[in-house]
Amino acid sequence: MKGFSGKIIRVNLTTRKITFEQPGEKFFRKYIGGRGIIAYYLLKEIPKDTDPLGEENTLVFTASVLTGVPVPGFGRHSVGAKSPLTGLYGESESGGFWGPELKFAGYESIIVQGKASSPVYLWIHNDTIEIKDASHLWGKETGETFDILERELENKRIRSLIIGPAGENLVRIAGIAHDLTHYHGRTGMGAVMGSKNLKAVVVRGTNKLEFEDLPKLKELARFFARNFHSNADNNGQNNHGTSDYYFGAQAAGSLPTRNFTSGHFKELTYSADELHGELKIKSDGCYACPVRCKQVFQAEKPYRIDPKFGGPEFETLAAFGSLCGVSDMYAGPKAH
Ligand code: SF4
Repeated sequence: MKGFSGKIIRVNLTTRKITFEQPGEKFFRKYIGGRGIIAYYLLKEIPKDTDPLGEENTLVFTASVLTGVPVPGFGRHSVGAKSPLTGLYGESESGGFWGPELKFAGYESIIVQGKASSPVYLWIHNDTIEIKDASHLWGKETGETFDILERELENKRIRSLIIGPAGENLVRIAGIAHDLTHYHGRTGMGAVMGSKNLKAVVVRGTNKLEFEDLPKLKELARFFARNFHSNADNNGQNNHGTSDYYFGAQAAGSLPTRNFTSGHFKELTYSADELHGELKIKSDGCYACPVRCKQVFQAEKPYRIDPKFGGPEFETLAAFGSLCGVSDMYAGPKAH
């Protein structure tokens, strides 16, 4: 089977031992990737009644057999563990570039066990896999951490998963930032990283994936690109991203408002065009995707909004806007 190495990295942070596993093609045909692989390892390895923030929890970072295929939708990866938020299966997915980068480095997944005695981060650069000291990064927010990592690894092309102070302090809803503009927001995976003293997982891969029929894949990618751009819905996605749903839901009477007590937020007086006209500086996207639905916002007044954090999705606008009864157009983007 082409397009994948079948290689899984296992890191025990307690013993600082790094090993490799190759469970074989049958395994990958059965579990494929993402949540399939996560469910397999969590069920197999986590003892009953394990504390999600304890040393025995297993944390899985994984791409899939299709991640890295140069066609839209194949840039995604997942992070999973027993969730500190629910006490059940926890998993959170993200787009972006980290998954393909892991594949280009030569791996499908990373399984992290144990707990480091002091803060560390993982650095994976093709055949080099290191557990590096992160004491100087502990306590720092994601933006500053990202800048330091870029400088100290002397590589502007790193792809990163980073936690901030929330994850370090085991806040049960803490997420993981991926390159500052994509996020693993669900099930508290940032707190699981924090419980293992794991500040970041940084990847850089320079190998090429081999495919059975690359010309056919390129033809498929061209087909998607042509059709995405001739489709009005996708042009909307490109112009405003998922933030369009904020205004669509308002029109439909289904906008989560004032802690879900209403579906209409009467104080919402600005439009999607006004929001983007005022704050958007460009669109951004994920691996091999022509839609580029991610929005990048910037402002100096009334609040400073730093473009390195991208821009808000629908969920952020609703959570910090209508759900809290906040009608200030700049507040949601600033909170994001
Ligand atoms: S740019 Fe938007 S549509 Fe394309 S893969 Fe990323 S999230 Fe999905």
